[in-house]
Amino acid sequence: ARAELVNAERLAAIGKMAAHVTHEIRNPLSSIGLNLELLEEEVARASAADTPDAELRPVMKESAQLVTAIRAEVDRLSRIAEQYLSVARRPRPRLEPERVDDLVQELVAFVRPELDRAGVAVRVEVEEAGPELLLDESQIRQALLNLLRNAREAMPKGGEIVVSVSFSSGAATIAVDDTGPGVPEELRASIFDPFFTTKQRGTGLGLAVTRDIIEAHGGTISCEPREAGGTRFRIALPAGRSPAQGRATDAAL
Ligand code: ADP
Ligand code: MG
Repeated sequence: ARAELVNAERLAAIGKMAAHVTHEIRNPLSSIGLNLELLEEEVARASAADTPDAELRPVMKESAQLVTAIRAEVDRLSRIAEQYLSVARRPRPRLEPERVDDLVQELVAFVRPELDRAGVAVRVEVEEAGPELLLDESQIRQALLNLLRNAREAMPKGGEIVVSVSFSSGAATIAVDDTGPGVPEELRASIFDPFFTTKQRGTGLGLAVTRDIIEAHGGTISCEPREAGGTRFRIALPAGRSPAQGRATDAAL
């Protein structure tokens, strides 16, 4: 519990610092996003209309490519801003009775198109319909989403993700398995640290936020190598007992 408190405090302090900057960036970013959307529509319309002017065609093609490139970067910036803000602003979990298996099914349906595009197959295995657990649905979704994103990013050439849900005495275990390269043993102790990343364009916040969310629910998360290669992230969520809420995270904005 002591270690959890330190984690939460550290994350809250980082969040507070980051929040100000991120807030300033978010508004212009969303206006860029909206204008870009208009531009995308214009470019799409112009490309669809077959112009008789041969000189214009390469220009339009290039415009389309530039717009696509800008879109990718704007989306990346938005994700970074979203991650920083989720550190800064995460309120204490608002607990409601939820079915974990339903939540997982819905989330996987939501990310499936994105995974398909990346050549990553995804499967859900639910042992049995479980009991309702007290949890904050949007926070648990965020935590799982971070794991699914990491799994996808670990498999740039494609692969498979299996999310399995099982229950024991009312407590739930959610495992996220991938067929990526695995986490080197010497890094396993560091990957949950805020800002720890091995990616050129990583924020290193995904797992820190995920762990913070799970611990605020009174749960635990661990990372294990899989025998077949790849990584397993295992989340344990407690059965209906009153979870450790808020505490140090109250220090966040
Ligand atoms: P980021 O994704 O921005 O790097 P995270 O906190 O989400 O930050 O992850 C931290 C690091 O943990 C990653 O940079 C990567 O080295 C490692 N990692 C996380 N998930 C996986 C995975 N499924 N397979 C291999 N390595 C992983
Ligand atoms: Mg990540």
